Amino acid sequence: MSASDQRHDVIIIGAGLSGLKAALELKEAGKSVLLLEARDRVGGRSMPGTICGQTVDFGGQWVGPQQTRLLAQAQELGVATCPQYVKGLSVMSRGGRLSSYAATPKLPVTALLELGMIDRRWRRDTAALPADAPWCAPRAREWDAQSLAGWIAGNVRTAGARDFVRTVSLALACIDPAEISYLSFLTYLRGGQGLKTMIGVEGGAQQDKFVGGAWQIPKRIADRLAGCIELDAPVTAIEQDDNAVRVTSARGTFGADHLIIAIPPILASRIHFTPALPARRAALLQRMPMGAVIKIHVAYDAPFWRRRGLNGSAVGTDRTLATAFDQSLSDDGIGVLVGLIEGAHAVAMSSLAPEARREAVIADLVHYFGDEAARPTAYVDQDWQSELWSLGGYAAYMPPGVMTGYGDTLRASCGRIHWAGTETADEFAGYLEGALQAGVRAAAAVRRETA
Ligand SMILES: Cc1cc2nc3c(=O)[nH]c(=O)nc-3n(C[C@H](O)[C@H](O)[C@H](O)COP(=O)(O)OP(=O)(O)OC[C@H]3O[C@@H](n4cnc5c(N)ncnc54)[C@H](O)[C@@H]3O)c2cc1C
Repeated sequence: MSASDQRHDVIIIGAGLSGLKAALELKEAGKSVLLLEARDRVGGRSMPGTICGQTVDFGGQWVGPQQTRLLAQAQELGVATCPQYVKGLSVMSRGGRLSSYAATPKLPVTALLELGMIDRRWRRDTAALPADAPWCAPRAREWDAQSLAGWIAGNVRTAGARDFVRTVSLALACIDPAEISYLSFLTYLRGGQGLKTMIGVEGGAQQDKFVGGAWQIPKRIADRLAGCIELDAPVTAIEQDDNAVRVTSARGTFGADHLIIAIPPILASRIHFTPALPARRAALLQRMPMGAVIKIHVAYDAPFWRRRGLNGSAVGTDRTLATAFDQSLSDDGIGVLVGLIEGAHAVAMSSLAPEARREAVIADLVHYFGDEAARPTAYVDQDWQSELWSLGGYAAYMPPGVMTGYGDTLRASCGRIHWAGTETADEFAGYLEGALQAGVRAAAAVRRETA
């Protein structure tokens, strides 16, 4: 029988880490599973790339000690971790001026004091969010009615702290503060175990990388699902009734008892549902746009910044390339820098020709690391906005009003349809860790219904 004649226990849409994990859990529980994937590859926002023969991650990459599911999954699959290079000083650019620092960026004392107060305030506010229902927090409506930019305008006095908070919004959610609700931002902070964890390298979410790349994790899970995955199979329609679900894709129509949708919300909103999804669930899908990000890699003959006592980390509140890190494998091999262009900068750069993008990035690297940065041996970038089956990254976010209006439908199943994908996680949503958590949750829900 072909896959389309067969009735499966569960169909999963989307072979990113979340859908793959859900499929593996269900397969190991004895269910017949079929994964339908739009692209000609698995992994979704986890994707391999190369520069000068070195394999790198064009998508998700870093992991911190708090992300225990991801670390355990990688270990079980035989993918080792290695630390992010931190030896030496980092650089920061603000107002056109460059400074280097060991632990704390050089900001005026008043700004640093205010940032301390903001951190305490955010800890208090995030502690007030119920873990799996932030829309029920006592002040949820007030916080959701304003953007993070509105909150900054009303609560942050010093220019240094304002710059810093804006950069945090870009670095964590790839979105400008005017576009994300303060409640959604707080929820992101709570799920990521707080600001210090999320922006931190040692002890934080950027502490480690995966040797050979994080993309191997979804790839190795997919290897265990051989025969259960249809690639080049974008799903266009879903029909359900009391007995079954029917899924129409470019590779045929497939039937199953249950369905898990593990794709970004905005892409799910483009699928035709019969009967229509509950109105508030459909409204949520339409109201969760993606952040915007371009990830760049630049290679040099040597990691010249290391010789000068720099660790390759850069942050700029005034630059197109807002963050950079060292991605070199050793002191005596080639030098590689990885960087991220986020939010409105990413949207603007997306419409530039590749050569113009390259020039802008190299100019920023020269600003951060000096003239030697002007002579790269290779440059590659990955623009996630132009990826038809992602439409941006790192993940979706909620603009003002969305979380309190529709957030309670985020994880609720709709008949035979269950929801996965990192956006539906209640811990580390937007991260690889969240993708895994959501996949496990959705698989468990299906198992409960079929027990
Ligand atoms: C540049 C970048 C850097 C990042 N850095 C980090 C990091 O350092 N650490 C970290 O933890 N996370 C990081 N992330 C986030 C992380 O990569 C994602 O959270 C995670 O990969 C999401 O997995 P997912 O399975 O939920 O979704 P996806 O990976 O998006 O998978 C969804 C899949 O569904 C498919 N699909 C979509 N529509 C359809 C359809 N209609 N029919 C069939 N298939 C469809 C897509 O092709 C895709 O394969 C980063 C992301 C980006 C883009």
